[in-house]
Amino acid sequence: MSLCRCLNVEPFPEIAGMDVSGVAVLRLDRIHPVLSGNKLFKLLCHWQPWQASRQPGWITPGGVWSNHLHAVAFLGQRLGIPTTGLIRGYEHLPLTATLQDCADWGMQLVFLSKVEYRQRYHQAWQRHWSRVTDSYFMGEGGALLTARGALAVLENGKDPGGQAFDELARVCSRYDQVWLAVGSGTTAAHLLPRLPPHVVLMAVNTVADDGAMERRWQQEFAGRQWQLVASVARRFGAQSDVLRERILAFDQQGLPLDPVYGAALVETFLQQQSLWQGKSVLLIHGGGLQGRRGIGLDIDC
Ligand SMILES: *Cc1c(COP(=O)(O)O)cnc(C)c1O
Repeated sequence: MSLCRCLNVEPFPEIAGMDVSGVAVLRLDRIHPVLSGNKLFKLLCHWQPWQASRQPGWITPGGVWSNHLHAVAFLGQRLGIPTTGLIRGYEHLPLTATLQDCADWGMQLVFLSKVEYRQRYHQAWQRHWSRVTDSYFMGEGGALLTARGALAVLENGKDPGGQAFDELARVCSRYDQVWLAVGSGTTAAHLLPRLPPHVVLMAVNTVADDGAMERRWQQEFAGRQWQLVASVARRFGAQSDVLRERILAFDQQGLPLDPVYGAALVETFLQQQSLWQGKSVLLIHGGGLQGRRGIGLDIDC
């Protein structure tokens, strides 16, 4: 199956008092009912490094509502690959709907304290878990562990992940700006080097990281066209009822959003009109609709 047939672009829903006629949405949430959004793209980038590792399983860290864990567990089940999730949180809490799905698909769940989870970027720690489970270690959010790994994907024309991101970049090349929500930054790291110079990547940072992402990108993506935009959605904070209402309003217009990324992307985009007015814009819908259950909404509206 060619991925490009799944790359559905549609107009952004009408917004009262705002000209959104130049704005389109790439509906990656429509790729597959479970394995949706950017997660499939990122997992494909692990295919060759995994095969080279000669380890039978996959292991990866994630939070209790993680879209990445969910995708890994599902794909592992479909392909007969044993999966292990290193979960940030405590065993005594009831399983979230996300973790229940992961368990149902056969993922082994290992619960870590928040202190231990903080080690997830350390190589020795990753090697330890990789060894004890005989599994290939995937970074949090599907990150490739080394910049060299990402470069290898970029340079290897036959790599399935590379080809998927090439297709994505081709769609993006028709616009002045491409907006997406950033968590680990992995999707942006794969996409950015493939974009032609006239396209600016507008990345809504959903993580309050005191500028860490900005500093990293200034090093890694010097000379590329990008701008990190702080998410306005944090102001929802504990007011998940406000967030839920905003999401329900977009449901009505046929644009289902998840509470962590999609809602942050759209809210920030609409509030930062001065950044995009008069330009042709593509918003990448990153999927993640399973996470709607985290605020008591159905997966599909
Ligand atoms: C995972 C996810 C993101 C963030 O992607 P990164 O590659 O981690 O930056 C954005 N949107 C949705 C819906 C996601 O599930």
